[in-house]
Amino acid sequence: MTSAPARAALGPSLGFVPTMGALHAGHLSLVDVAKTHATKTAVSIFVNPTQFGPHEDFHKYPRPLETDLQLCTDAGVDIVFAPSVSEMYPPGEAPLRVDMPGLFDVLEGPRRPGHFSGVCQVVAKLFNIVQPSLACFGEKDFQQLTILRALTKALDFPIDIVGCPTLRDPDGLAMSSRNRYLSGDERKRALSISRSLRAAQARVAEGERDASEVRASLRADLLTSDLSDVPVELQYAEVVDIDSLQSLHRIEDEAQALVAMKVGTTRLIDNIRLRVSR
Ligand code: AMP
Repeated sequence: MTSAPARAALGPSLGFVPTMGALHAGHLSLVDVAKTHATKTAVSIFVNPTQFGPHEDFHKYPRPLETDLQLCTDAGVDIVFAPSVSEMYPPGEAPLRVDMPGLFDVLEGPRRPGHFSGVCQVVAKLFNIVQPSLACFGEKDFQQLTILRALTKALDFPIDIVGCPTLRDPDGLAMSSRNRYLSGDERKRALSISRSLRAAQARVAEGERDASEVRASLRADLLTSDLSDVPVELQYAEVVDIDSLQSLHRIEDEAQALVAMKVGTTRLIDNIRLRVSR
């Protein structure tokens, strides 16, 4: 891998931020990171149909293109690539399925069949079209970031993958284009996600190394609320190895806690790094 500074010494570089649009400050923080590493910056805006399941929100997904373009201009983005579905997937093109057993089989994978295959397909296409020297992805989608690092390595894309921290609203909710679906009460209920993850982080920092204990208290915290009128469905609350994403029994040094929970009809995900203090 060529390090970003070493590549910068070779000449102009292109930093790339793939998105599905409905841009918020989280996306723009990725643009800022891309700008610090590269001489030019490209953003793609494409709601990729192949990563949505038949009952997911592909048709409902927000597409405020004019606002997004203005945000990109204001952020100093040099190139915006906003293709149509038929440009990305010309009629007659053979469907493609990607699989990475292990990384696809956990967390989001079983709940969203075909999702990561679609993500890998579109990102590989975008990498070949845009030809960036580095690409920024958010830790907000931790499993996606891990999978895209693995894809880049497995297919020898000459692209540095840069993971970027999750941007949160002041109340702690991880920014997401889907937060706009939440009612006032649902939003309040959703705050238990970041709160419970921080509590898990504190438990581990204070010395808890038993991953089942951390998992159990994380689940209990997520399901405890005064807002009993707001329906929630906890899909997973896991403590996993940061590279393999496999469930841990014991936390030796570092781990990742990840949550997916439906609040009302909106499915939210979030995660946090757990570190044992020395
Ligand atoms: P999306 O448009 O949801 O596909 O997201 C595009 C990129 O922005 C992905 O790499 C996401 O991980 C990243 N992203 C989404 N939300 C946030 C956030 N709150 N903070 C940082 N990055 C984010």
